[in-house]
Amino acid sequence: QKSTVVITGASSGVGLYAAKALSKRGWYVVMACRDVEKAYNAAQSLNMPQDSYTIIPIDLASLGSVRYFVSTFREKGLSLDALLCNAAIYMPLIKEPLRSPEGFELTMATNHLGHFLLCNLMLDDLKKSSSPDPRLVILGTVTHNPDELGGKIPPRPDLGELEGFAAGFQDPITMADGKKFEPVKAYKDSKVCNVLTMRELHRRYHELTGITFSSLYPGCVAETPLFRNHYPLFQKLFPLFQKHITGGYVSQELAGERVADVIAAPEYKQSGAYWSWGNRQKKDRQSFVQKVSPQARDDEKAELLWDLSAKLVGLA
Ligand code: NDP
Repeated sequence: QKSTVVITGASSGVGLYAAKALSKRGWYVVMACRDVEKAYNAAQSLNMPQDSYTIIPIDLASLGSVRYFVSTFREKGLSLDALLCNAAIYMPLIKEPLRSPEGFELTMATNHLGHFLLCNLMLDDLKKSSSPDPRLVILGTVTHNPDELGGKIPPRPDLGELEGFAAGFQDPITMADGKKFEPVKAYKDSKVCNVLTMRELHRRYHELTGITFSSLYPGCVAETPLFRNHYPLFQKLFPLFQKHITGGYVSQELAGERVADVIAAPEYKQSGAYWSWGNRQKKDRQSFVQKVSPQARDDEKAELLWDLSAKLVGLA
């Protein structure tokens, strides 16, 4: 029997190419997407064999939808061997915050809170996996880390003391630190939360369950639609800049293969790890475990974030 992986945001970019890579490696892929038709067309366009995947709708911004996804998944009688939390939004140009159905700021709701709930619910499914090596992987990014070149460009992420979480993250709260709305920082903050969640999952559950929890930075995948909400000129120049100036550019195909490795290859069975291939891409460069930012390795913050997030998503 095939191993099964759930991939959030598999309708484009890194998630789509990871779906393709894993289906080629013999996995059964559950594409967890908000737009079923778009996901179907995307899978078709990459010639993924019809019997290698299914699509189940999910809107990660909506806690109700996340719960509904999990019950639909279970009704299908599928087993879960790996979960890939990949979906994200990046809205650098908006002036006013958008809100999720439950009233949370939309970037944090989609990138962090929806995945936080999904991970907690699907831990039960992963525990039941018959695989000797179940895994849960969350996408990170270099921009979470001001210690790295790619993370030095302002605004820098700063969760503060999680004042925004403690205050409920509803209007008028828009940011993790309770300060003024800044959409680029909102994205970076949410990615710090992703890394903290991965590390706290590892601390709480790795020994107990044998599940491998990890994150990765696949490189700068400058051509994904992640940048669709940026200025058109930025979208044109960014891939060229990353290719020729910073050397950080990675194709969607290669990013998909890297993610598939972290999900499936034996070398990546290391819980708590954050994998990177470096900022400047070199041919055949090997991956290594990279130190995450001071905020993202703060164990007290991870625990506090866990408790406050659990309250916001209705688990506590
Ligand atoms: P894309 O925009 O191409 O893909 C994002 C995916 O998330 C899409 O499938 C999108 O669906 C989905 N999504 C967005 N909002 C929701 C929602 N509310 N519910 C369900 N699905 C949703 O971006 P990338 O492929 O570039 O990004 C994927 C991941 O990789 C992100 O976590 C990002 O932080 C990370 N990453 C990206 C890098 C890059 O350079 N591109 C670098 C480092 C990390 P839809 O198609 O319907 O919009």
